[in-house]
Amino acid sequence: FFVVFEGGEGAGKSTQSVKLAAWLKLRGYEAVLTREPGATDIGMRIRSLVLDSAPENSGGASTPTPRAEALLFAADRAQHVDKVIRPALERGAVVVSDRYIDSSIAYQGSGRALGKDEIAWVSTWATGGLKPDLTVLLDVDPADGLHRAKAGGDGDRLEQEQLEYHEKVRETFLQLAAADSGRYLVIEAGGTPDEIAARVRAAVAERLDI
Ligand code: C5P
Repeated sequence: FFVVFEGGEGAGKSTQSVKLAAWLKLRGYEAVLTREPGATDIGMRIRSLVLDSAPENSGGASTPTPRAEALLFAADRAQHVDKVIRPALERGAVVVSDRYIDSSIAYQGSGRALGKDEIAWVSTWATGGLKPDLTVLLDVDPADGLHRAKAGGDGDRLEQEQLEYHEKVRETFLQLAAADSGRYLVIEAGGTPDEIAARVRAAVAERLDI
């Protein structure tokens, strides 16, 4: 059984992935908690290559082009599926991943350069078509989420362009959820972490029939 958490920055994906994996372990499952980008050695290198070379961190000098960036995220995902996710599913574990294909469709597909269909196609090829059984979208207003994600940082004022991009990312996640409502659970990220965790557990329990 393969569960994915999706959502924007500061939505609480990592908190919820940890809580779900801990609960699954208590119920006697082998739970494999993982994330993208960066779950494997190669993935960690790709993660720093892509994130450190973002224009705001590198001055743009070594920023990958949109196609190169999409392929780097896809390469991270291919390695993740082949080395971590598929072997775990094959031995009967429940895999809980913080982000998967829909993050690429939302982030790389919300820039001006590439279409969402192209990103979906590259990702499907990279993963050999492996889809999650359940995707939990933690939906958060980007202004709140970015503020939360940066809490404790220097409290930068958000650039309007950055906010507009993250609004598109949110919109894409919601569209993906609406188009595949049987596989998606959408949760407003406004509740407490424990309330949200209880809703996630209920959805997983129903699907695992426990
Ligand atoms: O989820 P996490 O905070 O580890 O993601 C790191 C960054 O990578 C995020 O800021 C997100 O914007 C970006 N990302 C992306 N495309 C993906 C996955 C993550 O741009 N496919």
